[in-house]
Amino acid sequence: MRRKPKRRIIHVRGRYSRLETTHPWAMNRLLIVSLLALGGCLNFDPPGLITFVIDDGQLTDYTVKRPIFDARGAVAVSAVITRHRHLSDAQLLAMQADGWEIASHSRTHIDEPGLTPAQLEDEIGGARQDLEAIGLTVTTHVYPHGLTNFQVEQVTKKYYDAGVTVGGPVNTAPFFLPALGRKNFGRTYARPGRNTLDYYETLVDGANHPGRWLIFMVHEVDSTDAATLGHLLDYIRARSIPIVTIREGIRRFYLTAPRVRSATITEP
Ligand SMILES: [Zn+2]
Repeated sequence: MRRKPKRRIIHVRGRYSRLETTHPWAMNRLLIVSLLALGGCLNFDPPGLITFVIDDGQLTDYTVKRPIFDARGAVAVSAVITRHRHLSDAQLLAMQADGWEIASHSRTHIDEPGLTPAQLEDEIGGARQDLEAIGLTVTTHVYPHGLTNFQVEQVTKKYYDAGVTVGGPVNTAPFFLPALGRKNFGRTYARPGRNTLDYYETLVDGANHPGRWLIFMVHEVDSTDAATLGHLLDYIRARSIPIVTIREGIRRFYLTAPRVRSATITEP
């Protein structure tokens, strides 16, 4: 006849209090609950982060968007197509000196999935060489049109800490680098009804939790977008959510959650 397991109360850091038993399965559950409690105690995940990655390296990154960020003491990432440059060396270096990150957006903006290994080396690794030749520190690759696959990611991992895509849910730890997803900001690629301050504020509210990282994708902005961007930055700052570059975001997550990353981190 099977013995009825004894029942007892286990208290683990209060919030994990639950009725358990001395049954072998119960001991496993005790172990799991204890590990959960330990994880909660160590709190690996940093507070929510927000990043703005601006694609294509247009001159307006310097003349229009940068002043909007400057006015709020915030920074962004400018992703440059190195063989179709609009920003001068001096402008890129000035942005980096101000705390902006200059990222690769490939050499020619060609779709990367389907390229030969040699072409991938040229587009992805070559873009880093081009930017480093100017004196820039480059650790992020932004996939043209957000397109990537296994081969593209392998080459990206060789040269960068992160590869930035388009779409997907808000990034939530643990991350499986290099791929990081983004949400659109601005009229150019907005779905109907989604280019509003209310919508963007809802995204920010959703990212304001430990372990979340909301990355906006920005292209050209018209005067309405420019005003919305300013209001959105004010909204984020009022909630004390850090606005960081991709490099800084990875550094923060790496320092607090080393278990999720295996590749080498390149410090600024
Ligand atoms: Zn692009």
